[in-house]
Amino acid sequence: MQKEQLLLIPGPTPVHPRILNALSLPTVSHVSPVFVDEMKEALVNLKEIVDCRDGEPFIVAGAGTLAMEMALLNTVSKGEKILVLSQGYFGQRMKDIAHSFDLACDIIQSPWGKAVLTEELADKLSQDHYAAVVSTHVDTATGACAPVREYATKLKDFDTLYILDGVCATGGIEERMDDWGVDVVLTAAQKCFGVPPGLAVLVLSRKAMDKRLKMESVPAYYADLMRWLPIMKDPSKYFSTPCVNEIRAFNEATKLILEEGMEERFRRHKGFAKAIRAALRRLGFSFFTDESFLADTISVCYYPEGIEDMAFRATYAKNGVIVAGGLGEVAGKVFRMGHMGNLSSSQVQFAIASLESTLFTLGYGFEPHSGVEAAREILESLSN
Ligand code: PMP
Repeated sequence: MQKEQLLLIPGPTPVHPRILNALSLPTVSHVSPVFVDEMKEALVNLKEIVDCRDGEPFIVAGAGTLAMEMALLNTVSKGEKILVLSQGYFGQRMKDIAHSFDLACDIIQSPWGKAVLTEELADKLSQDHYAAVVSTHVDTATGACAPVREYATKLKDFDTLYILDGVCATGGIEERMDDWGVDVVLTAAQKCFGVPPGLAVLVLSRKAMDKRLKMESVPAYYADLMRWLPIMKDPSKYFSTPCVNEIRAFNEATKLILEEGMEERFRRHKGFAKAIRAALRRLGFSFFTDESFLADTISVCYYPEGIEDMAFRATYAKNGVIVAGGLGEVAGKVFRMGHMGNLSSSQVQFAIASLESTLFTLGYGFEPHSGVEAAREILESLSN
């Protein structure tokens, strides 16, 4: 029998049995009433999750990168310029996408492990006009969370759209489109929603939709939101066959999120991050990400002296937990642990207990149970 493993990479994340069950249902017609109702429900729920009362949600087969491309192509015309606020890998990807479509792009790149400061954004905005400003909420390579709400507040003074890449945050860290003034949230299924990979997910504010309506055409066919808009308004219509099972699973995920409640879900993500980091610190690990930018969804952890990357990750996997290696300049020096989606407190406790077994196998000296205890104290305070 295959041993069950806890997937704590920065996405895909563990899939809740209710979501797995939705995936495994017999495939129904994409225009059947049962699917049409579920698609409608998923779209309504999605808007609630990102606090968008007006505006349009889109759920399309693809992944986060397609959502990035769709966001850009449908809001920025040739001849206009965008500003990317990058704290690592995925801001650079946004710049590459802009270049692929010959869109002018300025970028502010923060040091890895930090994020662009609002003052730097303000400074840039005073020098040039941008059709859109794009930022990554949490960079999955560096574990840095950007001050998104501060950016949005600053951007209210300017005539520009604010596009937020929420792939590693939406549904786990607060994002309020209406209240904060975010014009596009783009995301994917496989992180905080806890659904297997396979969806590009976007919500556009009324202002962003108005911009698209004013654009005569966009350099896209499948990625043109105007082809999808009629389907999102009435899913019994056809443009391109939707991934029926994946969307039903996504709908189940949105229900799970709303049943938990947004405030409670954000509190749980924060609490789990705190518990995991307390345990790791107690066991001698430190963090790559600057203290003031630590994200609630992922930790990028430096190994203590004497722990070798490959041996650590292979042994941890044998003990039931899969984590990811580092990217770029810190490859080999860190591991990345995702802690987002539908994780339970007992899964977090298992991950720490298994971490202690791994360190023991590798001959690393530490006080037994100290990590487990550190996590337990915080986890218990959360359930009170
Ligand atoms: N943005 C961020 C912040 C991400 O973490 C990722 C994926 N790790 C992407 C975009 C791209 O998503 P995908 O791999 O689903 O194309």
